[in-house]
Amino acid sequence: MIYADNAATTQMSRAAIDAMVFHMENIWGNPSSLYEFGQKAQEAITSARAKIAKCINAAPNEIYFTSGGSEADNQAILSAAKVGAKKNKKHIISTAFEHHAVIHTLQKLEREGFEIELLDVHENGIVTPAQVEKAIRPDTCLVTIMFANNEIGTIQPIAEIGAICRAKKIPFHTDAVQAAGHILIDVQKQNIDALSISAHKFHGPKGIGVLYARKNFPLSNLIEGGAQEKGKRGGTENVPAIMAMAAALEESCANMAANTKKLLTIRNKIIDGLNKIPYSILNGDFEKRLPGNVNFCFEGIEGESLLLHLDDRGICASSGSACTSGSLDPSHVLLAIGRPHEIAHGSLRLSFSEYNSEDEVEKIVTAVSEIVEYLRNMSPLWKDKLSGKKDFVLEA
Ligand SMILES: *Cc1c(COP(=O)(O)O)cnc(C)c1O
Repeated sequence: MIYADNAATTQMSRAAIDAMVFHMENIWGNPSSLYEFGQKAQEAITSARAKIAKCINAAPNEIYFTSGGSEADNQAILSAAKVGAKKNKKHIISTAFEHHAVIHTLQKLEREGFEIELLDVHENGIVTPAQVEKAIRPDTCLVTIMFANNEIGTIQPIAEIGAICRAKKIPFHTDAVQAAGHILIDVQKQNIDALSISAHKFHGPKGIGVLYARKNFPLSNLIEGGAQEKGKRGGTENVPAIMAMAAALEESCANMAANTKKLLTIRNKIIDGLNKIPYSILNGDFEKRLPGNVNFCFEGIEGESLLLHLDDRGICASSGSACTSGSLDPSHVLLAIGRPHEIAHGSLRLSFSEYNSEDEVEKIVTAVSEIVEYLRNMSPLWKDKLSGKKDFVLEA
């Protein structure tokens, strides 16, 4: 099997599995218990908090454990909205291509009377700091813009956007789920007030994540319960998962330079190979792009058919976000960068991790090229385009 869907989830690392099993077997006390056996678990998560904080240049007491990226996004956004509403500030700035954990949270707030302004991400999939500056109003209570997009991999100018928000005293949250462990995050230098992380996107377990919230970020609790996480997130801590997440993030951050180098080679060879397919186009900026992300549209193709044929050949890929598979709507991300419906349907996302190898490049390029040709040859619509009865949308 070739696994090329690392933006959906990743294989757990050896270090993460070892940390998980060790804590399941040995450190299974309740971190809130006062006896020494419980306190061992408390000490363990204290060390995990410090490790994670270090990876993003935060302070340990600004790290809150959550059930994953979705919960962290919900908590950050709903917290800022709550404080905003109290001051009658109900304007929120975001982008048109956020993850559904952000989009659907914002839609909920819109139904409650908030005004949501989604910035255009242009054809290259990048918002500009100037757009953010222009959109900020006296009643803006939050700017939330993703660090790197989960479908097309584009990296946003986070430090500059953060600087603008800081100057205007607007809380700035970023969904950094695709960035953490893959590209450099420094919450100080990048002027970030709140940030979401999910372990299973960097070889950690599913169901665990982090919300980083700077001391002055107006955090309120989503989950009522005990005094865990300074009362901001009740519930007995998932100690094994927390330990595995910390091990995975530490490893990813330590190896980031080498992993990036390897991934860029794989990514760029795949892009070169797929660019040779006629009537195809790379989605998202080439330069400001995650090192492991490839996303293409092929004219005249249904993305779902392409995926099924790739699966037959043992290649795991995606047509976009895992959250949209199962629905027939084209990706909101591809529509946001201006791809017409017809083209957006024919999308393919290949996402790599350091566990992939260069040997896989040729197999993938050959498989995609052959399947695209096969599917086009079967399509009456394609025949109409070849005979000139219908126009091509993309260039040959
Ligand atoms: C995967 C992902 C999420 C959701 O994280 P979970 O831990 O699966 O809830 C949120 N945002 C982005 C950008 C993602 O890629």
